[in-house]
Amino acid sequence: MNIEKMQIILDKIKEYDKIFIFRHFRPDGDAVGSSRGLAEILKATFKDKDIRLQNCDHSDYLAFLGGEDELASDEEYRDALGIVCDTATAKRISNQKYSLCRELVKIDHHIPIESYAAYEWVEEERSSACEMIACFYDTFKDQLKINETAARYIYTGMVTDSGRFRFRSVSGETMRLAGVILGVGIDTDTLYANLYLKSLSEYKFEAYARRKMKFTEGGVAYLYISNSMKKRFGLTDEEASASVSLMDSIKGSLIWLAFIEGKDGSIRVRLRSRFVTVDKLANNYNGGGHACASGATVYSKKEMKKLIKDADALLTDYKKNNTGWL
Ligand code: AMP
Repeated sequence: MNIEKMQIILDKIKEYDKIFIFRHFRPDGDAVGSSRGLAEILKATFKDKDIRLQNCDHSDYLAFLGGEDELASDEEYRDALGIVCDTATAKRISNQKYSLCRELVKIDHHIPIESYAAYEWVEEERSSACEMIACFYDTFKDQLKINETAARYIYTGMVTDSGRFRFRSVSGETMRLAGVILGVGIDTDTLYANLYLKSLSEYKFEAYARRKMKFTEGGVAYLYISNSMKKRFGLTDEEASASVSLMDSIKGSLIWLAFIEGKDGSIRVRLRSRFVTVDKLANNYNGGGHACASGATVYSKKEMKKLIKDADALLTDYKKNNTGWL
């Protein structure tokens, strides 16, 4: 925990009348949860401040959490404090007008690749940025207010980014803070229904994807999802991308990769692993993220094959030099 950094952020929040909150593009539960959760806490606490979510894209999957605020004019940014949640690099910020803000704060739990804000609070060992927002609230609870809406946003990110509290980043402190947030009161039945229920076409696609997945000699599982497959099953990019988790429980497949063809011909890569780490592999392919959950982009089938080969070499080497993995 980094009290000094949190204190500086709280002081900055108090100093500004206008606060714009950002997150990464192609948002997941943690990006939406941390940005909206922080916004809600600040709105509940500082009734006279102008607090707005300023993001350019959205997630259909997370639409149940609500939409974004209207984008402000360039002029309005000039006297605003910008707070960017859950975003490691500037180019991944959903709204590139973040740079017009007078000062910038970064709150993040990704492995740091780049520094882009004057005030940065980064704790890569945290299971989610939402855990950091929960910590921020808990540390200053004598000065901050929370409500059920904020708690729902924060809990969404804590649950989703920790793989339902399964990942190794989950600590006793994660569970304590989850308890604090849950204690505010959340309708978890409705939350989980929104997070887990699938459409019939997604179910049918999953059966198809299970048949289509491939394995390297070293045990890397991978799946390529083309635009035509998405069309055939009527899936959005987001729904197709979720298929990475279909490969997360195969014994011996310690690395699993989903390749999703984009409209522009580029291929989004979702890298996941257990025991062995994949963030450095992602760094070699225009990406990054966490030790066991990263993202990257390749621009041809040839580059995709090279990434698979690299992943295979990484896993083969890991298996040769380590015991106890499954
Ligand atoms: P994804 O597979 O897109 O869900 O990404 C897994 C994790 O890596 C998330 O925490 C992302 O924010 C992060 N990530 C994805 N792509 C990149 C990238 N190009 N650079 C840095 N981090 C990334």
